[in-house]
Amino acid sequence: MLTWDDEVKPSSQKLLDGSHSNDRPVEPPPNGFQTPVLQSVASTSTRTAPTASAAPQHRRVSAVDKRIINGQTDVNQLVPFKYKWAWEKYLATCANHWMPQEVNMTRDIALWKDPNGLTEDERRIVKRNLGFFVTADSLAANNIVLGTYRHITAPECRQFLLRQAFEEAIHTHAYQYIVESLGLDEGEIFNAYNEVQSIRDKDEFLIPFIEAIMDPRFTTGTPESDQTLLKSLIVFACLMEGLFFYVGFTQILALGRQNKMTGAAEQYQYILRDESMHCNFGIDLINQLKLENPHLWTAEFKDEIKALFIKAVELEYRYAEDTMPRGVLGMNASMFKGYLRYIANRRATQIGLEALFPNEENPFPWMSEMIDLKKERNFFETRVIEYQSGGALSWD
Ligand code: FE
Repeated sequence: MLTWDDEVKPSSQKLLDGSHSNDRPVEPPPNGFQTPVLQSVASTSTRTAPTASAAPQHRRVSAVDKRIINGQTDVNQLVPFKYKWAWEKYLATCANHWMPQEVNMTRDIALWKDPNGLTEDERRIVKRNLGFFVTADSLAANNIVLGTYRHITAPECRQFLLRQAFEEAIHTHAYQYIVESLGLDEGEIFNAYNEVQSIRDKDEFLIPFIEAIMDPRFTTGTPESDQTLLKSLIVFACLMEGLFFYVGFTQILALGRQNKMTGAAEQYQYILRDESMHCNFGIDLINQLKLENPHLWTAEFKDEIKALFIKAVELEYRYAEDTMPRGVLGMNASMFKGYLRYIANRRATQIGLEALFPNEENPFPWMSEMIDLKKERNFFETRVIEYQSGGALSWD
């Protein structure tokens, strides 16, 4: 395995920093940024990628040799395709492209500034929501870019992850755009993940699973480290994007259904559609990884995952209680207990675990309609949303 010291020789260090001293100690990479990139490419290229000296051994990539993790094929060659589902999801996310500034926020601004426009409980929901989400999607983006991406050796999946990382940036942009439009206290909102306990608890639950795979010393290749990556993928797809986002999404969309904060609700509707795709991709990725590595799915591992699901439901329920101390918008915290259990069951069965809370029903069936948003139709009717990217335009 290459290390930073193996890879960056004093001569190349000179090129990087312009130093003329050969005995200058090599500094460790900042925050795991450089080493993983070098490692990821190098670990693959030392196995199969063509170099001048290795040319006689060069063999073209065969789809059957591709693997989700620990693959030995060239990660720079997208085709021949093996994981068509990943490529199709990449195309679908591109077809859903949108940008926050396309959404008209005028009515939201007027409503927020009107002292009688919203109740205190409704304002609390909006601020708590933004307090969680303004940093959540940055955590998600960093997890992909600095963690997941370098451990995945299937180029089709890497292609999706690149698109997903950009979408997380769009989501952070959307939340910032709402904060700015409403003239909220940026310090209060962007520090909520440090200062509001119910938000902090969710992030503290997530961060160890992100940090484990961002660690520059972390590599896959043993059953233990492969399980660490699989656990991180499950926490991220099923519990962060697949569960921790849902109280917040439901609350803002419930406001929109009552014709309040319709611009913010429209932004959330597009974000929900994107996140639902991220979650589905993550689940496909997890199931394919399991299929290729069945030895990782042990009884102990499954028990560990089940315990994480139960803990995540508890944390999200506490967040629901904190954001809704009283009934509001026809909802109350206890309705979310059922909803979170219903979602957790769905995520668990999607990755091959049994339902953790049998017989739970969905108290918010209208949320399914929101997730299945058709591109041509905007539920809140705040704008015409026919959006075509350059690649989809007809030039006739
Ligand atoms: Fe996401």
